[in-house]
Amino acid sequence: MKPFTYQRAKTPAEAARAVAASPGAKFIAGGTNLLDLMKLQIETPTHLVDVQDLKLDRIDATDEGGLRIGALVSNTALASDARVRRDYGVLTRAIVAGASGQLRNKATTAGNILQRTRCPYFYDTDQPCNKRKPGSGCAAIGGYSRQLGVIGTSDACIATFPGDMAVALRVLDATVQTVKPDGTTRAIPFADFHRLWGDTPHIETALERGELITAVTLPKPIGGRHFYQKVRDRASYAYALVSVAAVIQPDGTGRVAFGGVAPKPWRVEAAEAAMPQGARAVTTQAFAGARPTEDNRFKLPLAERTLASVMAQAKAQDA
Ligand code: SF4
Repeated sequence: MKPFTYQRAKTPAEAARAVAASPGAKFIAGGTNLLDLMKLQIETPTHLVDVQDLKLDRIDATDEGGLRIGALVSNTALASDARVRRDYGVLTRAIVAGASGQLRNKATTAGNILQRTRCPYFYDTDQPCNKRKPGSGCAAIGGYSRQLGVIGTSDACIATFPGDMAVALRVLDATVQTVKPDGTTRAIPFADFHRLWGDTPHIETALERGELITAVTLPKPIGGRHFYQKVRDRASYAYALVSVAAVIQPDGTGRVAFGGVAPKPWRVEAAEAAMPQGARAVTTQAFAGARPTEDNRFKLPLAERTLASVMAQAKAQDA
């Protein structure tokens, strides 16, 4: 690990200013992803700004009938909150499908949506990787790509966003709340938070330099039956090959987003109109323009079958 300096910030604006002031600075909270990357020297911050004292660990009701989830709320606390379990079940299910109990106790809401890809070449510093070293190339293109993306990828990077919680937040139309170094605040719709890779896969979110996530807000509950179904190579502690987050109403209408397939939680609202016609009608539209590799072409029929399974469960529960 490379040497770095460390400070504990007292306010969100102080933390944002501290990171903005130093080109090599990064925020740290739970550290469940960043510390691993530092040990491998994939991330080499020169200064860490610890945000754990910022009192952003509450879940509060909003005036609009939704919830405001503080950036430092642990994944465990969020998944087990009675209001989340009752009204946003897709979120609880997605969180408990990810990582391990120990990691969920430490990982935070903001950290979860900022986690880096698990592309194997990103972790191998002997391999070219445009995300780790811009302009160096992409070892995954033409390499081993079974886990990687099938849609929304680019000629520079075919990695996926690896998380589960974010897929549920996308279905719930969450909003990311931030503070900038000048003290102004911003609300970023979740749909716009993660970027497609394009020519700059090292730029992963809409956050500006020093901009700190303070909360994630949920609109008022939308009812329906909530599902998170994750298909992976082993039963626990593995990233999704494909996942489906869905909220399905008794008449068969609903919302759906896919994980494990793209640089961001993949939701195509126009495709949701086809939900009453069945899974194939939805995935045909949602994955139009897909660019799978030979290794990961199987993800397309797998996404359809996973959604079909979720729809069948919804139908059985409403029967
Ligand atoms: Fe790097 Fe992206 Fe290529 Fe993986 S897919 S090697 S993360 S550029």
